[in-house]
Amino acid sequence: SGRWARAVAILKELEEKCATPIGKLRQVADAMTVEMHAGLASEGGSNLKMLISYVDNLPTGDETGLFYALDLGGTNFRVLRVQLGGKEGHVVKQEVEEVSIPPSLMVGSSNELFDFIAAELAKFVASEGEEFHLPAGRQRELGFTFSFPVNQTSISSGTLIKWTKGFSIDGTVGEDVVAELTKAMEGQGLDMRVSALVNDTIGTLAGGRYHDNDVVAAVILGTGTNAAYVEHAHAIPKWHGLLPKSGEMVINMEWGNFKSSHLPITEYDQALDLESLNSGEQIFEKLISGMYLGELVRRVLLKMAEEAALFGDSVPPKLEIQFILRTPVMSAMHHDTSSDLRVVGTKLKEILGISNTSLKTRKLVVEVCDIIAKRGARLAAAGILGILKKQGRDGGAARDGGDMQRTVIAMDGGLYEHYTIFSNCLETTLREMIGEEAAASIVIKLATDGSGIGASLLAASHSQYL
Ligand code: ADP
Ligand code: MG
Repeated sequence: SGRWARAVAILKELEEKCATPIGKLRQVADAMTVEMHAGLASEGGSNLKMLISYVDNLPTGDETGLFYALDLGGTNFRVLRVQLGGKEGHVVKQEVEEVSIPPSLMVGSSNELFDFIAAELAKFVASEGEEFHLPAGRQRELGFTFSFPVNQTSISSGTLIKWTKGFSIDGTVGEDVVAELTKAMEGQGLDMRVSALVNDTIGTLAGGRYHDNDVVAAVILGTGTNAAYVEHAHAIPKWHGLLPKSGEMVINMEWGNFKSSHLPITEYDQALDLESLNSGEQIFEKLISGMYLGELVRRVLLKMAEEAALFGDSVPPKLEIQFILRTPVMSAMHHDTSSDLRVVGTKLKEILGISNTSLKTRKLVVEVCDIIAKRGARLAAAGILGILKKQGRDGGAARDGGDMQRTVIAMDGGLYEHYTIFSNCLETTLREMIGEEAAASIVIKLATDGSGIGASLLAASHSQYL
C-alpha cells in the first residue's frame, strides 16, 4: 500500500542520511585529530576542551592503604572503598554500593544534590567493616569521579564548566565541585578529604593502567560519551606550568562536544538537539551515547506513525513522549532473535502502548534500531582512530614495516557493556579502518567500573600522608 511505501521511503532516507562509509569515517577521525591539536594549542581553540587533568603519573601498583571513591556521572552514583595492598596484595578488599539519583535532584539545586550524595556516602562509611584499616589519627581520603566537564585547577579542585546528560542544576556552574562536596560532607559530620578530583575517563584510564601497563587511553560509552588519553606534556602549548617529571599529562578530551561538518546529521538529530537542555552542544554525544540512541529511534518511529500511519490511523500517544524509549529497550528489540520478533512486539506494547504489530512492522523497527546504533558505533570507532593517530599508534609504523607497540584502550559504560551489536560493530569498524595487521596489537579492554578503582588509586597516589 501507499502507506507502507511511505514508511519504507522514510527508512531509506534515514539509511542514506546516516551512512558512514569508511571514507567519511576517515574524515571524522582526521577532524578529531585536528581538533585535538587545536584544543591543546589554546584555551577555547576548539570544541574539544582537551582539559588538563593534573594527573601526570598513573598508578604503578605500589599504592597501599584504605581509600574511598565516589562516582557521580549519570543516572546512578557509586560509592566504593578499597583496601590496597601494594605490588604483593593488589586490591585486598573492595566494596561498592550503587544509589540511583532521584530525578528531581538532577534539575534541583546544587546544595540538595551534594547533601544527598554526602548523606549516602556517610551511611556507606558508617558500614565500614574490620577488613578495612585506617591507621590511627588519619583522615579518610576520597577520589571523586565527577563525569562532567570541569576546569581543573589542581589535582583536587576544579570548577564546573557546564552540566550535560540531562543534569541542569542551578548554581553549580563556575563553582568548585570539591568545595561543594566538602561543605556537604562537613554538614553530615563526615571527616573525609577529597584528594583527587577526576573525570570518569581519567579514572578508567588509571584503573586500566593499574592492571595493564599498555593502557594509554580510555573511552566511556554509557549515558554520555567521552575519552581521555596520555599526552606528551611538551605537546600541550596551552600548558604554562612546569613540565611534569614524567613528561606526560593525561588529557580529558570531552569528546562528546566534538562537532564536524563530516558528521552525518539528520532532521531527527537536529530536532533532538533543539529540544534538548543543551542545544548546540554535545553533538557527537547526541549521535552516539546511551542517553540519546533510543530517543532517536522514537523520533524516527514517530515520523513513520505520523506520515505513513505505521501503527494505524492514529499516532500512538505514548510515542510522542520524549525519552520514553530508552536505549536498553532499543537494545532488547535490536537483539531479538525470535522468528516472530516477539521481544519487539512485547516492548512496543509495554513501552509504547502499540499492540498487534505485524512481523513486517517489527522488522522495520529493528532496521531503524540497526541504522541508529551502527551509525553511533562507527562514529565512536572513528573517534578512537582519531586518538590513535594523535598518539602515533594507528598502525602507521607497522605498515612501514616497523614494530607495532601494544596499545590498550580501557572501555567503560553500560552502552558498550550491554549493547553487543553496538560494541561488535565498533570493534569491527576500528579493525577495518586500521587494517588487520596493525589491529592485532590494539586491544579494547572492558574495564567495568574501573573508574571507581581508578579514582581511589589516584586518591592514594595524591594522599596527604605521602
Ligand atoms: P553512566 O554512564 O550513567 O555512568 P553506565 O556506564 O552504567 O552509567 O551506563 C548507563 C547507560 O548505559 C544507560 O543510560 C543506558 O543508556 C546504557 N545501557 C544500560 N544498559 C543497556 C542495555 N542493556 N543496552 C543498551 N544500553 C544500555
Ligand atoms: Mg559512569
